[in-house]
Amino acid sequence: MIDTTDLSPGRSEETDPEWIRCGPCRALTYGKRFERELRVCPSCGHHGRVDSALRVQQLLDPDSVTEVAVAATVADPLGFADLRAYPDRHAEAVRRTGRETGVIAVRGRIEGHPVVLAVMDFAFLGGSLGTAEGEAITAAAEAALDERAPLIVVAASGGARMQEGALSLMQMAKTSNAFAALDEAGLLTITVVTDPTYGGVAASFATLSDVVIAEPGARMGFAGPRVIQQTIRQELPAGFQTAEFLLAHGLVDRVVRRSELRQTLGRLVAMSRVDDGAPEAEPAGVAQVWTDPARLPAELAAREPREAVALSRMPQRPTALDHAGHWLDGFIELHGDRAGADCPAIVGGLGWLGARPVVLVGHQKGHTTAELVRRKFGMPSPAGFRKAGRLFRLAAKLGLPIVTLIDTPGADPGLAAEEEGQAIAVAESLRLMGRLPVPVVAVVTGEGGSGGALALGVADRVLMCANSIYSVISPEGCAAILWKRPDAAGEAAKALRISAPDLLRLGVVDGVVPEPPGGAHTDPATAAELVSRAVAAAVAELADHKPEELLRQRFARFRQFGVAPTPGTETTA
Ligand SMILES: [Zn+2]
Repeated sequence: MIDTTDLSPGRSEETDPEWIRCGPCRALTYGKRFERELRVCPSCGHHGRVDSALRVQQLLDPDSVTEVAVAATVADPLGFADLRAYPDRHAEAVRRTGRETGVIAVRGRIEGHPVVLAVMDFAFLGGSLGTAEGEAITAAAEAALDERAPLIVVAASGGARMQEGALSLMQMAKTSNAFAALDEAGLLTITVVTDPTYGGVAASFATLSDVVIAEPGARMGFAGPRVIQQTIRQELPAGFQTAEFLLAHGLVDRVVRRSELRQTLGRLVAMSRVDDGAPEAEPAGVAQVWTDPARLPAELAAREPREAVALSRMPQRPTALDHAGHWLDGFIELHGDRAGADCPAIVGGLGWLGARPVVLVGHQKGHTTAELVRRKFGMPSPAGFRKAGRLFRLAAKLGLPIVTLIDTPGADPGLAAEEEGQAIAVAESLRLMGRLPVPVVAVVTGEGGSGGALALGVADRVLMCANSIYSVISPEGCAAILWKRPDAAGEAAKALRISAPDLLRLGVVDGVVPEPPGGAHTDPATAAELVSRAVAAAVAELADHKPEELLRQRFARFRQFGVAPTPGTETTA
């Protein structure tokens, strides 16, 4: 546990029944307005502390709340005393907060959906994790397991409670095990990080959730800033360990304002409840996909591969986020690899494809030079593939279909990418995708550049937009190596057979999605619509396949590439 005085100065609000003075900006707000604003300063947006009872009220539907029974725990296991006896400190916390422990565990509904909610209260002995608190978190997880409901935890803590010694430390393992059981049962877990969340709570259940949301400005870390400063004897960067810092470092999924928290949680919970009954088949419109190479339109079949290369790179083609915005309802983007980075070249999240929640993952380019630079030209770092892997595992856990959108010149070939294990990140993605027990539909929407493309492409159905390309190497790269002159790129493009008609003939793709006349860039909305219909049809077709059937067919799909056909069974191309 870290010294909580370290986390408090200048942050808390002076409370007065009439007026509240904001800690950071010193502005005065009328008390009733401050409550109406959910204890967020209207002047600077500072999120004030909320006690656990009020938090339950803010998040759950009225009249839906019942307490989860929690077993009694030992009161003072060590007979601990410092300057004061532990029982005295504890009794004072009980008196001050009006609660017996620092965690409330309840069942309730959020926007109509059943959940179990556990809320930590920083006002109770600095939100420290004692045996009673560990027991309450565990009881909440077990209630979620019993009722097959998602679990939401609102975290606030200085860490494990010193006064309960090693028994407090053991609560980290106990709660983490309870979260693992929820993973195995396929139940969504969400943490809301509030200010501050440190030590043993950050280093156990709080960061094990599928989705970690932080309130603006909320700090989370293993060690407190003062300890770090004393250890390294350097100034810490501005905003160190704040929600925004954590997001930039890939450690939380989103920063969500308190006023939007309930709605965000409600949407996530709704998308995880796939066993509520199979969704009705969505009227997706007629999907036009060419699956027979002999029946491709003449102008597509006759197109020079180098024209497809140029068209596939048009910056006005719809990006992954354009597609998500166009044809997924209620899309919630999730961020980060949980290991130090949030790669901007891969995006992903959850949304509704018609009546069906799906996980979407795609390479992200941009329409302007500034966007392209910010998105690393759609060339993922290892962190990008690890983020994708995290989302694939989430989809597998929740039983949701996966849609991937492929559009990359290739994986980032830089120095840092090598240091972080680019080859390993790609390899691990190939292996992971091959064994995902849910339907996977991939669409090459632009450039399918080598391993960085295939890392999102080990799918049950692989589709390709009419003017996209998919290749082991860029035609320019191939020309430079084999032709020894870059202006041979057109010849290389032809020789490599990287365009849709050739790849359909080779069986690398299962279908070609039409594009508007002139290419996707001439009418991005129609292009996105055509992709969405093809995706919806493929997902619907795969939806009732059993996991073992999907795995068997996906394995066979990739197993047969390159094997010579048995004599007498060749098809004429
Ligand atoms: Zn303020």
